[in-house]
Amino acid sequence: MTTLTNWINGAHVASTSGRTTDVFNPATGEVQAQTPLSTVEELNDAVAKAKEAQVKWGATNPQRRARVMMKFGALIEEHMDELAEMLSREHGKTLPDARGDVQRGLEVVEVCMGAPSLLKGEFTDDGGPGIDLYSMRQPLGVVAGITPFNFPAMIPLWKMAPALACGNAMILKPSERVPSTALRLAELIKEAGLPDGVLQVVNGDKEVVDAILDNEDIAAVGFVGSTPIAQYIYGRAATNGKRAQCFGGAKNHMIIMPDADIDKAADALVGAGYGAAGERCMAISVAVPVGKDTADKLIEALVPRVEKLKVGPYTSDEDVDYGPVITAQAKARIEGLVNSGVEQGAKLVVDGRDFSIQGYENGFFCGPTLFDDVTPDMDIYKEEIFGPVLSTVRMDTYEDALNLIIDNDYGNGTAIYTADGDTARDFAHRVNVGMVGINFPIPVPLSYHTFGGWKKSAFGDLNQYGPDAFRFYTKTKTVTARWFSGIKEGGEFNFKAMD
Ligand code: NAD
Repeated sequence: MTTLTNWINGAHVASTSGRTTDVFNPATGEVQAQTPLSTVEELNDAVAKAKEAQVKWGATNPQRRARVMMKFGALIEEHMDELAEMLSREHGKTLPDARGDVQRGLEVVEVCMGAPSLLKGEFTDDGGPGIDLYSMRQPLGVVAGITPFNFPAMIPLWKMAPALACGNAMILKPSERVPSTALRLAELIKEAGLPDGVLQVVNGDKEVVDAILDNEDIAAVGFVGSTPIAQYIYGRAATNGKRAQCFGGAKNHMIIMPDADIDKAADALVGAGYGAAGERCMAISVAVPVGKDTADKLIEALVPRVEKLKVGPYTSDEDVDYGPVITAQAKARIEGLVNSGVEQGAKLVVDGRDFSIQGYENGFFCGPTLFDDVTPDMDIYKEEIFGPVLSTVRMDTYEDALNLIIDNDYGNGTAIYTADGDTARDFAHRVNVGMVGINFPIPVPLSYHTFGGWKKSAFGDLNQYGPDAFRFYTKTKTVTARWFSGIKEGGEFNFKAMD
C-alpha cells in the first residue's frame, strides 16, 4: 500500500503525523493508497519555508516567472495522458473527460504566460502641477489554495498558476480523496524551473485547513468546495485578516422554451446532467421546460437518451459516458435522496438505484436517474445531489421559470434553450447567476474571462482565473510623486568661471 507524501522545498517528504485516510479506486472500490493527514506543525513549517522562498521569487522579474509558466504548460501537454490516467484512477471519470480536466487547467497556465502584461500598473501624468501618480501590483506573500475532489488537475491549476505568476508562494491543500495529481503537477513545475519552496503541497483534512486559516503568514486563501465549508472558511479567514475567495456548491437550472429545438436541448441536458456522474459544480441538475407541451416533448426525448447512457470504469474498452461517483458514502447519499424524491411525490421516470456492473460490483456506480414533476419544496430540488440525477420542474410561463432560478439559493451557472434572441437577452440580463449559457449547457468561461458564481455559490469579491485572479493575488500600491527644484528652477546652464 502506497502512502503518499507532502511536497516540501521541491521534494517528496513523508508526513510524520501517523494519521492517514484511504484513497479509493472508485471503479473497483479498492483502497489504492493512503493520504497523509498532516499536522499543524507540518503546515507551519511548510509556510515558514515558503515565506523564505517567496522573497526571491517575488523579486524575480515577471517575464522570468512567465517563462516558468511557458515550460510548465509544455510539460503538462507532454504529460497529458499520464495526468489524465492518474486522475481517473483516483476520481473515476472517463479518460476523455479527464483530459478535459487537465486541458481546462492548462488554459489558465497559458493565460499566466502573459503575466507581465496582466501585472502592468497604472500611470497618471500631471495629476497636479508637476505631480504624477502611479500604481503597482505587488505579490501578497504566501497564499493558500484548498481544492475539491471533482477536478483534481483543473482546480489546483486555477489556484497555483495565477498565484505563482504574480510572485507569491503557495501552500496547496488538495482534496484528500484525489491527492496524486497535485503532487505530480508540483514535480512538473519544479522541472519547469520553479524554485524550491515556492509551491508546497501539504496533504490533510480539517486540521490542516484550520492551521492554514490561523497561520499569520498566510495572506490569502482561495477555496473551492461545498457551500457550508466555503462559508466557514470565508468567515474564519476574514476574521484572521486574510483575503479570501471561497467558491461553493450549485444547483444549476436550464430553461427550455417552447420554441427551443427539443432534440438539441435533450442532448445538452444529458451531457450536462450526467457527464462526470453529475459531479460538476456546473452540471445542470434541474430542467425547467416552459408549458405542458414542451415538458411532455422534453421527457419523451430524454427517456431513451438517459436509458441508453453507458456507465463504466475509465479502463473500459467501450465508449463510456460516465464513471463511478467518488465514494460509497456519496453513492448511498445520492440513492437516499432519490428515495426521498419518490417519497415526496416526484415522478421517477428512469430509476438508477441498485445499479451495479458485472466485474465491478464493489465500484461506486450510480445508474442515471430522471425525475419529472419535481416541486421546489422537495429535498431533491433543495439539495445539491452531486450525482447522475436530473430533476424536471415544469413551469407554465417564462416569468415563472425565471423566478424559480432567481429564488434559488445558489447562483453558479444556468442556461436557456430558445430560438428567440429577445428572450435570451432578457434572461441573461435579469437572472441573478454568475455564468449564463444561451443554447449552451455548461457555460464555463474561457480562461481569459473569469469564473465565479453568485449567491451561496461564492463568498468573496473577485472571481477565479483571468484578470480577477491577478487582482486577487496582488496588492495595489499607489504612489503620488512630486520633485522639487529640478531643472526648471534650480538648474544652472551658464558657463561660468570657477572661483
Ligand atoms: P468539500 O467541501 O467536502 O471539500 C473541499 C475541500 O475542503 C477539501 O480540500 C477538504 O479537505 C476540505 N474540507 C472538507 N471538510 C472540511 C471542514 N469541515 N473544514 C475544513 N476543510 C474541510 O467539497 P468536495 O466534496 O471535495 O467537492 C464537491 C463540492 O465542491 C460540490 O459542492 C461542488 O459544487 C463544489 N465545487 C464548486 C466549484 C466552484 O467553482 N463553485 C467547483 C468545483 C466544485
